[in-house]
Amino acid sequence: MTHLECARTGQHYDADALHNLSEVGAPLLARYDLEKATDALSREQLKDRPANMWRYREVMPISTLEEIVSLGEGFTPIHHTTRLGQWAGFSQLYIKDESLNPTGSFKARGLSAAVTAAKARGATKLAIPTAGNAGGALSAYAAACGLPAIVFMPRDTPSAFAIECKSYGAELELVDGLISDCGKIVGERKEKEGWFDVSTLKEPYRVEGKKTMGYELAEQFAWTLPDVVIYPTGGGTGLIGMWKAFDEMEKMGWIGSARPRMVSVQAEGCAPIVRAFAQGDETAEMWQDAATVASGLRVPGAVGDFLMLRALRESGGTAVAVSDEELVEHSHTIAAHSGIFPAPEGGATLAALLKLKEQGLVDKDERVVLFNTGSGYKYLEALSGGLVS
Ligand SMILES: *Cc1c(COP(=O)(O)O)cnc(C)c1O
Repeated sequence: MTHLECARTGQHYDADALHNLSEVGAPLLARYDLEKATDALSREQLKDRPANMWRYREVMPISTLEEIVSLGEGFTPIHHTTRLGQWAGFSQLYIKDESLNPTGSFKARGLSAAVTAAKARGATKLAIPTAGNAGGALSAYAAACGLPAIVFMPRDTPSAFAIECKSYGAELELVDGLISDCGKIVGERKEKEGWFDVSTLKEPYRVEGKKTMGYELAEQFAWTLPDVVIYPTGGGTGLIGMWKAFDEMEKMGWIGSARPRMVSVQAEGCAPIVRAFAQGDETAEMWQDAATVASGLRVPGAVGDFLMLRALRESGGTAVAVSDEELVEHSHTIAAHSGIFPAPEGGATLAALLKLKEQGLVDKDERVVLFNTGSGYKYLEALSGGLVS
């Protein structure tokens, strides 16, 4: 890694110091000497690397292997879900199953990278606002390396998320409000309390962890990319990260210039990106009264909104909203036709695919990847409706 770069102005920042947002309030993105990375690592060499996201360490924000805080996150399977494909009318339907990560969601990738980087740069206590999974993941990685953590979570988040934070030994504050209110509290108190804020995209490295999903897509598809990627979007870190990864891989000569159409899925009760995309806006207005059982999607405003909207448009993709009924129903469809028990956010991707099919936006023989971003086991309240009495 050479430096950090402001995503709005391009201004450079020191890679060795702790940073949150840039002077203009925009995310900072990690930049690497990609020529050096290409010399150090070839696609063939990857075959001998451990099956976790740190296999891509030349393009990760570390200076030594010893500093890595890892629980084995990443390199999750990508399943050709033929039965589900038949049901939905697609010959090449795949699920990237992120539920197999430590802590049961892809938040593990981001927090492994963020905790690694924060610890190496001297942070002494980590604070996070969360809609659910990020709090659990921070708590786990903080426990793994012995840093204290404090988690701010909406009071009405499913109970599994609060229980796991406490079990990992984190401090937990339940907030009467949304993740945005939690973020405000962290922002107001962090200086006085000496916390380092690991809110997504307000620190530079969660996106570096999540970008490895893009590297894995390419590696697992033998250095090609799918035609369509359907991604349940809250803060948008995964979408932005994968888009960044494709760019880095092209610069390293690992892939060509073809890109998947990136599709953002949100819940009808909280769809700021879908609305902004439809209106042709560059940024997204805050969503009022955000509500959905897919807690990871209950993010009314995101600092990376302009980066997400740019990636969706550059890719020729789109943004789709689905109802809570649809996303729960299709969580069960995925489970019953693939053997994967998805988070409601994962169910949302199938609901979105059916809408795109209806609109003629995806062809039946295209290679489509749904991201199941988390495990259904933490959402039993939302998923149990009508199933058991
Ligand atoms: C956080 C989360 C999301 C949204 O991820 P972003 O990359 O922040 O958009 C989706 N699904 C689950 C299960 C999550 O925990």
